[in-house]
Amino acid sequence: MAGHDYDLFVIGGGSGGVRGARMAAATGAKVAIAESYRYGGTCVIRGCVPKKLLSYASHFHEDFEDAAGFGWSVPEPSFDWTRLIANKDQEIDRLEGIYEKLLKTAGVEFFHGHARLLDAHTVEVGDKSFTAETILIATGGTPTFPMEPGWEHGISSNEAFHLEALPKRVVINGGGFIAVEFAGIFNGLGSEVTQIYRGPQILRGFDDDIRNTLAGEIVKKGINLIVETTIERIEKREKDLLVHLSDGSEIECDLVMAATGRSPNVHNLGLEEVGVALAKNGAIKVDEFSKTSVDNIYAVGDVTDRINLTPVAIQEAMAFVDTVYRGTPRAMDHADVPSAVFSHPPVGTVGLTELQARERHGELDIYRSTFRPLKHTLSGRDEKTMMKLIVAKDSQRVVGVHMVGLDAPEIVQGMAVAIKAGATKQIFDATVGIHPTAAEEFVTMREPIPGDQAKAAE
Ligand code: NDP
Repeated sequence: MAGHDYDLFVIGGGSGGVRGARMAAATGAKVAIAESYRYGGTCVIRGCVPKKLLSYASHFHEDFEDAAGFGWSVPEPSFDWTRLIANKDQEIDRLEGIYEKLLKTAGVEFFHGHARLLDAHTVEVGDKSFTAETILIATGGTPTFPMEPGWEHGISSNEAFHLEALPKRVVINGGGFIAVEFAGIFNGLGSEVTQIYRGPQILRGFDDDIRNTLAGEIVKKGINLIVETTIERIEKREKDLLVHLSDGSEIECDLVMAATGRSPNVHNLGLEEVGVALAKNGAIKVDEFSKTSVDNIYAVGDVTDRINLTPVAIQEAMAFVDTVYRGTPRAMDHADVPSAVFSHPPVGTVGLTELQARERHGELDIYRSTFRPLKHTLSGRDEKTMMKLIVAKDSQRVVGVHMVGLDAPEIVQGMAVAIKAGATKQIFDATVGIHPTAAEEFVTMREPIPGDQAKAAE
């Protein structure tokens, strides 16, 4: 620490920052952290956690309908948005308290306020300033809005968690994680939803079978999905909004939401002044050990725009602590990171898409199964599950696992262990299934799709 107030000062109290602060303190380092909004960060306060609670809420609509096929008579259900939001807020307050308690228990000093670097070792928070041997920046990201006129009347996911009432008619712009998830949430809760995407198919970057299957399923559920179209202008009217589209059509609605990506939070942190190099999109440039261009300054999580997921930020923070405080330098392995989209039905995926696998491994064996889940044989719901394994032909290693369907995120988490361990198709075949589950399909797919059919599915 040699003359500094702290060994480590962390800027940003989200998933990555809090984990880095706590784990560094556990090694005996003297640690402080500053957060300008609420401890817990995007994931806990206005991201993954509240989103999943709303997603659960929106699923009951179908659960009540599905119950009939199993002999239940459910009286006409009614839904209270205000109660849902109040209950959700209560849970988020509780989690925020837990985050602060964890910091306190770990012996981390924490500050509420915007922090900014005055030099490579000095941080200013409000009217105080502190020095530290090492700085960790974990300030996350912020939703971005398109540039077209009228977006001042739109909201982002930040505001979606605090709407006073459930909007009757919603337009969502985007085709990524947040757009797809919120389209499902509003649709399930009873809003009329139109999703506008500029490209030919939602979820760019995911396996095409996931994209096509999910698009088909959400349209069946009543989402009005409009692709290859953009919003040209949003007009505020006396009682509602009029959205003007690039194809000349117009949509009347009560809420327009931008889910068009997020940008790194680097504004007013003093980074340029201190010499921390930024990428073109503002992300902090780091090496494999999360070190920035300034020797004693590190950065983890969304602010570095590597893989913008909470568990990745946490692992990057753990690798940082191993490197700087445990004497065991380690780079986080960003390969085969599993992810999920909490759409209805949800998506789970790990490893390479078919397109990526062809580029990297050449010839492939593709196994794919599309079926009606057992639950829906009695519920009568027309919802399909799609499961897919991508196997490198020469090594027989399973290099991609993809699923759309009930419980896909829960199932694919386990599959991710197998992929990380380098499991071959023969190991999948030697694994006994759990019957009756959808998951067992991953260990009972026997015949690859004949070559030309697999290609036709691309
Ligand atoms: P994404 O990058 O996933 O998606 C942004 C979408 O907006 C894309 O469809 C993109 O189109 C489109 N888009 C971008 N700019 C414009 C524009 N100017 N006009 C019209 N459309 C535009 O971002 P999200 O905001 O959905 O989410 C941010 C990140 O947060 C995700 O990438 C993910 O890392 C994380 N996240 C993870 C979740 C999870 O794990 N379940 C849930 C929510 C967020 P195109 O595809 O053509 O570029």
